[in-house]
Amino acid sequence: MTLKSLIRTIPDHPKPGIQFRDVTTLMKDPAGFGRAIDLLAQRYGSQEIRLVAGIESRGFIVGAALAHRLGAGFVPIRKKGKLPGPVIHEDYALEYGTDSVEVHVDAVNTGERVLLVDDLIATGGTAEAALKLIARLGGVVVETAFLVDLPDLGGRRRLEALGQKVFSLTEFEGD
Ligand code: AMP
Repeated sequence: MTLKSLIRTIPDHPKPGIQFRDVTTLMKDPAGFGRAIDLLAQRYGSQEIRLVAGIESRGFIVGAALAHRLGAGFVPIRKKGKLPGPVIHEDYALEYGTDSVEVHVDAVNTGERVLLVDDLIATGGTAEAALKLIARLGGVVVETAFLVDLPDLGGRRRLEALGQKVFSLTEFEGD
């Protein structure tokens, strides 16, 4: 059993031509989900992570489980208009138009060591916006971690060009 074999591909979702990498099939597998969190916890267990920041919404699932294992706190990075308190936001480009992510202004303190997680990195636009939010609050992002990297879409290179370290448990060719 490999982690990659537990991730289901749904062709043409949410629109024709997109190969949707569905991590819910990994998450529902007790051994598979446990293994994914174990591998991340081993990698970051000695990195003095104070906060795990997870990107809505599948990043919450990975991020919360990992934060618990690391003895870290959890910070949600949410789509526009969802967080109840004062926020800062960052816009990012989609194929058509823009979207926005937000974080509470008091979610991260200056100098705190943060691990950013999401289920998947494609173009890296979402993760880059999340990184900007954390940087604006003075957080130090130790690394960005994903269950899935789609290398052909360039997200890893984009984040690495910003000086950011990127880690993924699996990779899928193509888009
Ligand atoms: P991006 O900003 O292009 O790196 O897109 C990353 C976000 O979009 C993540 O939150 C993913 O959950 C989602 N996403 C993008 N492409 C896919 C895909 N092929 N399969 C599943 N989720 C995707």
